Amino acid sequence: MSLLDVTGVVLNRRDVREDSRLYTIFTHERGKLEVFGRGIRKGQAKLGGHLEPGATVRVTLAQGKTGETITAVERQHYPAHAMSDLGHLASLGFTLSLVDAMTKPESADPPLASFVQEAIGTLENLDGDPDDHSRFRMWVTWHVLGLTGHSPELDHCVHCRKPLPESGTTYSALLGGWLGPECVGHDASAKQSPPEARSTIRQFVHSAWVELPAFPPDRSVERAVASMSRAALDHVLERQLPADRFVQFTRALG
Ligand SMILES: [Zn+2]
Repeated sequence: MSLLDVTGVVLNRRDVREDSRLYTIFTHERGKLEVFGRGIRKGQAKLGGHLEPGATVRVTLAQGKTGETITAVERQHYPAHAMSDLGHLASLGFTLSLVDAMTKPESADPPLASFVQEAIGTLENLDGDPDDHSRFRMWVTWHVLGLTGHSPELDHCVHCRKPLPESGTTYSALLGGWLGPECVGHDASAKQSPPEARSTIRQFVHSAWVELPAFPPDRSVERAVASMSRAALDHVLERQLPADRFVQFTRALG
């Protein structure tokens, strides 16, 4: 029996059969893995206690006939503070579910693995302000979209490729970026984009949380960015998620 150690964040767990669980862990070494915790709801309950979603764990895996099984767990970090209220729990759940939905098993992505840990660390330091949570989820959304190859085109019109002017642009989730004034007709579902919206999204894509400037004081810009974030996620996830989970995401972006 060959053993292998991997380190990552638990994204999800679900009960299987009478006494086992299937864990989804986003690891640095191999990307997303689905591994069994056998007997974890009975004799191995202590093992399971370390494997809550959001925990960073080092697990030892053994290859069996029907998949890999966890034989040992060392918990390296657990966002205890993030579990203390519903706002944090919702943002944590949003982050873990988004990474789960946007990735395929066995595809190593060290930058994304690092970002998941960075996002959880950021969340732990967030106070309970609902605006902060909504902003946190937008930051996570654009970062994860960027890291999984869905970065928006920020500088050129997605139809004619001309450099975008400051104003008069619309955001097209379908085309993955902005349309210049001369090309607005190319996506009837494109959203009006105030000038500050594109620079705000640029910051969400490229900046660490601590580098973000204060949110534009204008509530209408914030609403426009939230609406574009939702449209971008809707477009990318629509074909990947069952309807009920899709609705959860739409709600979570607020
Ligand atoms: Zn154009």
